[in-house]
Amino acid sequence: MISAEEARVLVCESGKRLLREGLVARTWGNVSVRISDTHMMITPSGRPYAELTPADMVAVNFYDLKYEGHIKPSSELKLHCEVYKKRPHIEAVIHTHQMYASIVAAAQKDVQVLDSEHQRILGAAVIKAAPYALPNSKAITFGTEKAIEGANAALMANHGCVCIGRSLEDVFLVCKTLEDACALYIDSFKKKTKAL
Ligand SMILES: [Zn+2]
Repeated sequence: MISAEEARVLVCESGKRLLREGLVARTWGNVSVRISDTHMMITPSGRPYAELTPADMVAVNFYDLKYEGHIKPSSELKLHCEVYKKRPHIEAVIHTHQMYASIVAAAQKDVQVLDSEHQRILGAAVIKAAPYALPNSKAITFGTEKAIEGANAALMANHGCVCIGRSLEDVFLVCKTLEDACALYIDSFKKKTKAL
């Protein structure tokens, strides 16, 4: 686990990295890390990543959603909270609206992970899609938590995906691998359609 001060810098940098690496558009998507047995550090709500500073990151109690100060945490914080509560070995969570994962998520399909190296990094041969529910609702939090069971990622119908891991570096790799796996999966469909 890392200190709150280290986490501020790391989460802020990771928000900017999401943008640089094309994993989010505008202010969509959010990043968090665990900083204690009760708290996580998460990106703020609705602020452009390019303008963020470490002081804008918000420490939130994942049991009661409380935080100090006037900066609001990401509106999608409940999903992050659920992951930290239920999975003590998870240290970092990223939610993105990355393109290929979003396409498969919009089709409400589970992803068959075709490459064995992708399977190793994603932790499963199938990445499940949680059914559609309103953003930040109990239903989406519950559905996504269920879909991620036994894997390092889950799709959220019409709402991108969530990736989890033991460090932010690991989670970035999961996000990028999920993108590759979804691209391959979409491509396999195109080939099947052509063969018909
Ligand atoms: Zn979102």
